[in-house]
Amino acid sequence: MKHVYTIDDLREKALPVNAKLAVLGYPVSHSASPQMHQAALDALGIDACYIRLEIEPGNVSEAFGLMQSLGFIGCNVTIPHKLEAMECCDELSASVKALGVANTIHFKDGRIMGDNTDGPGLIKALEEDFGLTVKGSNILVLGAGGGAGKAISTQLNREGCANLYLSNRTVSKLEKMAENLPLTETRVHLLGNSSTELEAIAGEVQIIINATSMGMKPDDCLPIPVRCLTAQHIVYDAIYNPPLTSLLESARDRGAAVANGLSMLIHQGAISFEIWTGKQPDTGLMKKAIST
Ligand code: NAP
Repeated sequence: MKHVYTIDDLREKALPVNAKLAVLGYPVSHSASPQMHQAALDALGIDACYIRLEIEPGNVSEAFGLMQSLGFIGCNVTIPHKLEAMECCDELSASVKALGVANTIHFKDGRIMGDNTDGPGLIKALEEDFGLTVKGSNILVLGAGGGAGKAISTQLNREGCANLYLSNRTVSKLEKMAENLPLTETRVHLLGNSSTELEAIAGEVQIIINATSMGMKPDDCLPIPVRCLTAQHIVYDAIYNPPLTSLLESARDRGAAVANGLSMLIHQGAISFEIWTGKQPDTGLMKKAIST
């Protein structure tokens, strides 16, 4: 079995026996999805192999066609294919329609169905890590205009939090997204990412979620000034590698409850798994498979 397969392998049917699920990305060799899903498939006795497929931008439609003809059940889609994948779908879930990006594809009855499990995955992660439901809370999402940020913000708006503060470096991205948010009981506030704007509202929120990519590299700045972080906050960082970002370390030092994005990764994967198989995977096992 190879670490990564390509479109040529799909064309030549040079795949493992029972390759039925995959993660598509470019690059994709870093993805931990195969370990996590394979453990869950094996535990449930499902005879399927989950592989990495490195597909160049522009080739997603051909890849989907080949996967359908080879009897694949579905796939996860990661950077940079979430938009291209959506454009190849025959049917879209409500969340994909709202977000404009798909992270889960299900090949069903000859049709390509697109879904997005990042938002529901985050909600389950917050329940698991902090035992909290977001209804009625005031929440700040940093990087709300990015792919993950949009999925998280759209879901939080659905879940009925009281006030949703959406921050992004490029504010125009928020304005576009906010136009598509359905009207709910949540009051949505749009802001940039300046220290002044973040300091003005930090005292109003209970939960801070980082959905920016700031913190992935060791020399990245914090996505929010450290003086905004207090013991009243719950801080969740969607980043899971490194496991302790500077944001989480600073927030923890100032007494906040913190958790990283590993739980979101597992839960978004578990929801995809259920879409494909109709079965609930063992998330404890998935976590163990990723961590070892
Ligand atoms: P993306 O679409 O490229 O969005 C990146 C976001 O970060 C944007 O809001 C961008 O702001 C902001 N940003 C980047 N550099 C910045 C800087 N120097 N200053 C201020 N803001 C900056 O990426 P993504 O797919 O949403 O991923 C974002 C993060 O979430 C990544 O770390 C990824 O690993 C993580 N993630 C985790 C999970 C999980 O399951 N745990 C799932 C998905 C993503 P602009 O819009 O202004 O460029």
